[in-house]
Amino acid sequence: MKPITLGRMRVHKVHEMDSPVPLLSQLPGTTADDLKRLLTWYDQPDEITSDPETSLMTFSVHSWVIEIDGRTIMIDTCDGNHKNRSLDAVHQLDTDYLGNLRRAGFAPEEIDMVMCTHLHFDHVGWNTRLENGKWVPTFPNARYVFTRRDYDYFKTNPPGEPLSWEAFCDSIVPVMEAGQGELVEADFVAHREIGDGIWLEPAFGHSPGCCTIHAKADGQPALFWGDVVHHPVQLIRHDLPFAFDADAATARRVRKATLERAADDDLLCFPAHFRRSSAGRVKRDGEAFRYEWIDNN
Ligand SMILES: [Zn+2]
Repeated sequence: MKPITLGRMRVHKVHEMDSPVPLLSQLPGTTADDLKRLLTWYDQPDEITSDPETSLMTFSVHSWVIEIDGRTIMIDTCDGNHKNRSLDAVHQLDTDYLGNLRRAGFAPEEIDMVMCTHLHFDHVGWNTRLENGKWVPTFPNARYVFTRRDYDYFKTNPPGEPLSWEAFCDSIVPVMEAGQGELVEADFVAHREIGDGIWLEPAFGHSPGCCTIHAKADGQPALFWGDVVHHPVQLIRHDLPFAFDADAATARRVRKATLERAADDDLLCFPAHFRRSSAGRVKRDGEAFRYEWIDNN
């Protein structure tokens, strides 16, 4: 995929893998009518059928890399390689993520900052890599920023969160021990020029401290919404609880507000898990929304 230029920013996608799971395991309550409506603008035959029982939700897992004013900032770091996980689909992966990063034009040493929208396993994995049996930061020159709220929650090994605890131990702790991690508040500013910048905004709900990342640099504003929305069908059913939202009611409110803002402010959106070009725009569609992917392949 070609990079997307927005004013002084260039945004690159670095793909790790696609993860298909049964749709109803993620979004119980999705109906055949919802899928009929979705199929009018998301025709993905390997994933969505007219029957919720046989439909999949296929997550693209990828990072976004922003180049701005001579700095290189990575948003979210996927699952990672060689990690022990209590979920078969992500256990002991061996993907060519770093090859994809190189093909996008970046060596690990060139990443100046890593920002994680939240601390779930599929957003922090490449924070570290295995070297001589030890987890070391993958990006040796980067400052890694984590929201304090998620950090304080996941460090307690919370009940029902084994995957995130596994990730905390091998993908967060080694970064902190290497002195490259920084705990920040949910309104942290990563980069600032007059009127422009890159900054966090609270979007709590999916996890206790999850944030969206906003970016603007003499061009159209960009929104990296992390896991506020996982899949296009949630633009139609933003009211349905997602199976892995920590606080489903709050997450639902945040999802709706984020979609409304994206549509009304014409934000260019960079979802964490949409397929195809991933990037696109949210449009209002009656009481719901639809998504228009930008065509830049
Ligand atoms: Zn995710």
